[in-house]
Amino acid sequence: MSSFSIKTILFAAATLAPFARADTQWVDADMKKLKDEDRHERFKGLQFLGSRGPHGGLNGLPVVQSFKHPVPSGKIPFRCLDFAKEKVEGTNQPHCNMDQLEVFEVEYTDCPGRSIPICRCKNAPMTIEKIAEEFSKVSPKARQWMKSISARPGGSCSASASGDHMFFNGDCGGDGAVYLHEVGHALDCAALKDDNGDGKKCMSDKDLWRQAVIEEDTCVPDNYAKNVWGDNFAQFSVMAAYHHRVQDIYESFAGDGGLECLRNGLNLAIEMTRNIFAREYQTCDEHSGFDDKAKEYVCTTSEARAQGHCDGIPDLPAPGADNAETLVSTELFGMSQRDLEIFRGDMAHVWETTPVRKGVAFFA
Ligand SMILES: [Zn+2]
Repeated sequence: MSSFSIKTILFAAATLAPFARADTQWVDADMKKLKDEDRHERFKGLQFLGSRGPHGGLNGLPVVQSFKHPVPSGKIPFRCLDFAKEKVEGTNQPHCNMDQLEVFEVEYTDCPGRSIPICRCKNAPMTIEKIAEEFSKVSPKARQWMKSISARPGGSCSASASGDHMFFNGDCGGDGAVYLHEVGHALDCAALKDDNGDGKKCMSDKDLWRQAVIEEDTCVPDNYAKNVWGDNFAQFSVMAAYHHRVQDIYESFAGDGGLECLRNGLNLAIEMTRNIFAREYQTCDEHSGFDDKAKEYVCTTSEARAQGHCDGIPDLPAPGADNAETLVSTELFGMSQRDLEIFRGDMAHVWETTPVRKGVAFFA
């Protein structure tokens, strides 16, 4: 598909009403089944995992030290650029212009020699340091699959992912479940991808996963696990991270109704992420999603190229080109249909998580 652009997607997403859950044109039939059956939701959102447990839950995980290396101006990860330049809803103004976008390569001490670009509109409430600190709580073997992180202003926190890129609007502070949910998308479609010829790239597309969730389980983690399959997996991966890094999640809820109703999906997620989240794996891998990072960048100024900052990096499409306004197109960067689905799903997430985040409804 070559006619999609992120701008088009955002526009489409922005025009959905907050209660547009009935819009099922991009929802697979078996996910629709989960929705139509009104499958029981075990919890009302997973944010409570952030503070539940002996050491402060997911939010209390140890911080890993990091160093930030400034990226020369004129060289910007294309996803960051596109996210920053999106128009503020209802206006003709971007969230920030290119010259107001700061980019740092952040290197963690548990993964020396490797780094992730973190981009920030200078008017965004979250600092580079804050993002780096919160992201550090995600295990190194999970962190390594995320290719960029972006932050821009916003009235309230919302987060989204396009495959292995993470985006923040507003102040998402230290909500560990949000970071892990977005990382879950990268695990689903990058770390756990399995090109075995069945045409199903992401783990949550596989029969193995869907059978466990649909046929063997009788409940889902929460409402959002019924959004799209990517979000279904991402919510389970938040729970799996809790199990590996905070405490045994079955024991944690043993006296609280148990987790039998979603045991099959949860056990699968726990097994599949054991080498990713478990505490004994405390460094990144030699090869990972970081490795093709160079292709994430575009060169935005001739000065940067003249100074040698853009070797191996394509130029930003020139004004007047088909994609000059939207910058990112499937033709140029090969955004997959799966990325589109996740991206659209998470834009819906923006509205759906807001009441949970603001409210006191934790778990049923
Ligand atoms: Zn999501």
